[in-house]
Formats: sequence, C-alpha cells, structure tokens
Amino acid sequence: MGAAKSRVLHRSLRETPPKAVGGDGVWLIAEDGKRVLDASGGAAVSCLGHQHPRVLEALSRQASKLAYAHTGFFSSEPAEALAEKIVGDEPGGLAYAYFVSGGSEAIEAGIKLARQYFIESGQPQRQRFIARRQSYHGNTLGALSAGGNAWRREPYAPLLSQAFSHVTPAFAYREKRDSESETDFVARLAAELEAEFQRLGPDTVAAFIAEPVVGATAGCAPAPEGYFRAVRDICNRHGALLILDEVMCGMGRTGTRHAWEQEGIAPDIQAIAKGLGGGYQPIGAMLASDRIIDTIRQGSGSFQHGHTYLAHPLACAAALEVQRVIDDENLLDRVKDLGGQLERRLTERFGNHRHVGDIRGRGLFQAIELVADRASREPFDPALKLNARIKAAAFERGLACYPAGGTADGRRGDHVLLAPPYISTSDDIDMIVDRLGQAVDAALKSIGH
Ligand code: PLP
Repeated sequence: MGAAKSRVLHRSLRETPPKAVGGDGVWLIAEDGKRVLDASGGAAVSCLGHQHPRVLEALSRQASKLAYAHTGFFSSEPAEALAEKIVGDEPGGLAYAYFVSGGSEAIEAGIKLARQYFIESGQPQRQRFIARRQSYHGNTLGALSAGGNAWRREPYAPLLSQAFSHVTPAFAYREKRDSESETDFVARLAAELEAEFQRLGPDTVAAFIAEPVVGATAGCAPAPEGYFRAVRDICNRHGALLILDEVMCGMGRTGTRHAWEQEGIAPDIQAIAKGLGGGYQPIGAMLASDRIIDTIRQGSGSFQHGHTYLAHPLACAAALEVQRVIDDENLLDRVKDLGGQLERRLTERFGNHRHVGDIRGRGLFQAIELVADRASREPFDPALKLNARIKAAAFERGLACYPAGGTADGRRGDHVLLAPPYISTSDDIDMIVDRLGQAVDAALKSIGH
C-alpha cells in the first residue's frame, strides 16, 4: 500500500491503496503492472471477471443509444428485458423487479414495500421486523437497523429504527451445541423465532429477514437442512412476509440463480445486487411477489419510494448481458463443478490445519475460519488483526481475497471468504488455494504460530 496523498476518502484514512488500471478475466492489474488473481470478485461482485467482451459491447451499444432517462417519465428496453429475465410467472412467485443502485437500496426498498403492503391491506399495526444476529444487510440506517452485528450498530444506536429485533443465526459452527443434532438445532432456532413472534405479538410482525447463506459477517455460512422451511412455515402461520437478502449469495453464486431454490421455499420479497451486474455497473434490485404488488396496485396505486437512478438504462443493459452470458455459457453448472473443486482443494489444504476450524460454503462461495484452538473453537484475539495480515500476505503473493475479523464477543473468528468469478478455470482454483495456503501460514507465522 502506498503513502501518496489522495483526496479520495478511502476506507483507510492512513493508507492509499494502489490504483487498479486494468482487468483481464480473473486478473486485476495494478499501476505497477502487478497482476492480482481476483479470488473474491471484490466482495462477491465480479461474477464474470473483468472486461468481459460481451458486456463491454452491450454497454457501448446502450451508451450510444441512451445513457439515462428518468423513470418518472420513461421505462427503457434494457430495464424491461432484465425484469423479464430475472422474475417469472409462477403463481405467488416473485413477479416484479425494482431496480436500484446497490444492495442497501434494495433492502431499504424491501422494508418499505413490506410496510406499505400491510398498511394497504388493512393491517397497519404490522410494524415490526425480525432479523438475525450476525447478519449484514447494508450500511444505510434502515439496512443497518436490520443488520445484526452489534459492533456495527452500537455507534449509531440512537439513529437506528427500534422496529427490528434479532434472533440467533443458523450458523452451525458457532451456534449449534455439541449435544444437538442438526435437526435439534433447527428445532431450537424455530422455537426461538416462534417465541419472538409471540413476544412481539404475532400480528405486529411485518416480516422476517435473513440471508440464505450468510456472507461477509459469518463467512459463507449456509443454514442447516430444513431451517428455511421451518421459518417459512412460521411466517405463513402468522401472516408475516419472508424477505431474503441475496445481495451476496444470489445470482448464481451458490450454483442456482437464487440460493433459496436449494431450500425448497420462496420468499415474498428479495434483495439482489453484486452478481446481478457483475460490477460492470452499480445495480441492485428488490424483487416482489405479485400478491404484494397487486394489493398496492388496487390500493394507492404506487409504491411510495424512489431514487434518481432507478432502473438506470446503462446499468440494466450491463446486468442484462451479464445474465445472458451466465445462461448462454451454462455458467451455473460451472459454478457447481468448480465449487466442488474449490471445496475439495480447501479441505485437502486446510482440513488438518491446526488453526483452521471450519471450511464451509456453497458453490463458488466458500470460506475458512481461523481459530487459535481447534478443539475449543476459540478465535484469535481480534487485536492481532489476523485477517488483515492474511489479506496483505495474499496480496503480496498476487491474490485478492476477502478476509474479515473476529468479533470481540468471541462469536466469530477471523475468516477468509472466497468468491471467484464463474469463468475461472480449474487451474485458477488450484492457484487460489495454493496462494491462500502460503498467505495463511505467513500471517500465522507473523503472530508467532
Ligand atoms: N446485504 C448483503 C448480504 C451484503 O453482503 C451487502 C454488501 O456487502 C449488502 C446487503 C449491502 O449492499 P451494498 O454494499 O451494495 O449497499
């Protein structure tokens, strides 16, 4: 990292990161010519890698026709085609897409739509939302209110909505008791959610919100079998909506377009972003069921929300081409195959590593969790900043991965998240695990392990 003065307000106010000047498939190229293998697609964004010719061509075609038109006056061809592509006609299914600029905006829109739906369906008392600890739903104040990371929330507590409460996440490595089977664990979580509905008053709850595979805040933690069927049942029984946040785990990352397809349920509202546009443009979307939209259509007739860049034509054109490439090149099958390879290689390299407590994930969305002691699962002291050391050691070796720190309450250890592009090759996957192995060992050595 360089020390050059920058007027850009970077994440770190002490260091200016090197400039990225180019991209080439799975590689990012820095200003000094260094090639860095993009093993996490930023934060699970670059699903097609960098500079995909079809997406560049689609962007330039759209830019030469029309870059922007306000949705108060016009729709656009790419917005209509993109919505057709990502939502379907199944009765009761997700039937409408509301295009925004990113994940937090998609979550905000979902929260407000749920609230408006209940106001217009004669249940204005449904004002409460139940979320889970250790979830991340974005950084705007509404999304942060939904998020469950205490350390993120606390500084802003006076600004956050009191309408959100949080239950235990379905994060087996940290939350399942040794004495419990997976079925017992799911039953305990379902009982806790039911108790939370009862505590709040079941007819005051608008929605339960969760990530099907928890991304950065737990490190690719899928729920145990049956969990989402259980929460869907509870929501149905109490007339509440299910909002799923697939901002990180969606759009093919786990091997199906939506991660919930693997759970045997469907949500009423969903947030997507990152892999929707693959980073070629900032775009996210809130998807909603026909039941919700039909109710509002027959009521006030409009969703009380909006942003200047809704359904931006260039962003929609880029996302449409990203999704077409995924379909045309059968990339979801490739995600399943490469995901299997990634999991096997991680297990070979770290399965017996004395400081790797868990290897978990789905498809090309995998993480390792580092622990001081495997038997007790005790995390490393967060003050050691092991995650930052791994990130730096990996970068030195030409690998960009996405590490996150442990929490002071010990409920999560340092972990490293991998989310390589769907166009990766088998050799790329081997190189990722090889370089990560070297980086983890170098980082551990730097703290005396
Ligand atoms: N939800 C999840 C699960 C995320 O991982 C993120 C971002 O990392 C968000 C919401 C917020 O998305 P954005 O950063 O695009 O606002």
